[in-house]
Amino acid sequence: MFQRIMIANRGECAIRIQRSCRELGIETVAIFSEADSHALHVKKADQAVLIGPDPVKSYLNIHRLIDIALKTGCDAVHPGYGFLSENADFARKVTQAGLTYIGPGADAIDNMGNKTKARAAMVAAGIPITPGSESSLEDVDQALTIANQMGYPIMLKAAAGGGGRGIRRCDNDDELRENFMITGREAMAAFGSDELFMEKCIVDPRHIEFQILADSHGNVVHLFERDCSIQRRNQKLIELAPSNFLDDDLRQQMGEVAVRAAQAVNYVNAGTVEFLVDHNHNFYFMEMNTRLQVEHTITEAITGIDIVSEQIRIADGEVLGYGQSDISHRGFAIEFRINAEDPKNGFFPTPGQITRYHSAGGPGVRIDGCVYAGYEIPTYYDSMCAKLTVWGLTWPQAVRRALRALNEYDIRGIKTTLPLYRNIVASEAFSSGEFNTGFMEQHPELLDYKPYERREDIAAAVAAAIATHLGL
Ligand code: ADP
Ligand code: ADP
Ligand code: MG
Repeated sequence: MFQRIMIANRGECAIRIQRSCRELGIETVAIFSEADSHALHVKKADQAVLIGPDPVKSYLNIHRLIDIALKTGCDAVHPGYGFLSENADFARKVTQAGLTYIGPGADAIDNMGNKTKARAAMVAAGIPITPGSESSLEDVDQALTIANQMGYPIMLKAAAGGGGRGIRRCDNDDELRENFMITGREAMAAFGSDELFMEKCIVDPRHIEFQILADSHGNVVHLFERDCSIQRRNQKLIELAPSNFLDDDLRQQMGEVAVRAAQAVNYVNAGTVEFLVDHNHNFYFMEMNTRLQVEHTITEAITGIDIVSEQIRIADGEVLGYGQSDISHRGFAIEFRINAEDPKNGFFPTPGQITRYHSAGGPGVRIDGCVYAGYEIPTYYDSMCAKLTVWGLTWPQAVRRALRALNEYDIRGIKTTLPLYRNIVASEAFSSGEFNTGFMEQHPELLDYKPYERREDIAAAVAAAIATHLGL
């Protein structure tokens, strides 16, 4: 087994990986930029190395990261999510340096990382994909021809896109003409490629994805599904597992297709096969994420499997040691991405200092965070500052528990998505389980929330009013 792992990531993600390493008796090396010198992942690591002054580029400096891993005597590198986690060049160079990359092989990342390549691979494997253009679009005229053959609405997508960026719905020729330029430019800036393709827009679908695990001995299993339909701007906000939209038949069918998708590209390690499911329960392959995912915690909650430990064991060449029939799921889990964002202001980021931090606790509550009281959230990074995962034996219990935990959670000094989540979870729209990816647009009233008032706040307000009255 590995003795020391370098975690090529920061924040909540790096801390999550440290925890599994510690349980496995493996030391961790953290990396940090100057902006992150007070970050929690640095404080919690066995060793931490400053990678450079640039807040973002430092974490993407492949040469420097590999050099640190070698100098600190690491055996392996875990990329986490975001940053270099879907960069085939990084995976290749880590391996060439004699280190183990904890993730799929560079070829699988290459083949699945580009969405048009992935679609071609899935068609070859007989897997249903979202109807759309066969390959990348040459120019706007070709795009208009295909769109008119397929019929609007269509989704214009960047082949290299991720994190909800580089996706635009177009409802007619004019919108397509306009978005073609904008999306191409945006994709070039964000992903270094302006390759675009087109999919038929599935109106108000469910986003349902399957977690898979594959070892290097040819064993592939799935760990059931996650429903990630509650999104804003094509980015996930709340995820749940299992999905109450699937019956056992459809679950089994989709799980088998997800396993086949992984097998088709000789996939090894943890990965996620994302599908869109329409109102008639037709499902379409959308993309594969060749890495650990933010919402892996809900799968861990319902299956009891530690996905990060499994990633490490698989990378070490171990046999999975269990088959599909050994894996079961129990109860319902919900994850909330607590972001430093103001939902009432278009989810605009709200970095700043956290003045008070009390996390939730108690039965069925898990917190994966990276902030603390007094911590100044830097402006440079992803706005997610903690994840709350709750588990309940039944869906109603999970919902009640979620509301209880969200009410316990107290973060002050910055605006977060917490009050929005309290409102969502208390709504019939959410507790009914009847939602799709249009949820936030369909329920603008959920943005109309008030701050959560605690007894101590009311007492403080009364005391302040009395002080004012007495002229103190
Ligand atoms: P998930 O892992 O659940 O799909 P996200 O899509 O939000 O979650 O991606 C995980 C993290 O990686 C987020 O912090 C997101 O900003 C970042 N990310 C995802 N894809 C990319 C990409 N292609 N380039 C840069 N960052 C990305
Ligand atoms: P990313 O790589 O950014 O995660 P995805 O291809 O996974 O991009 O799509 C992200 C989200 O965008 C989906 O969860 C869904 O809400 C929406 N979306 C993408 N493609 C389509 C489509 N063809 N029809 C409808 N919605 C789509
Ligand atoms: Mg996706």
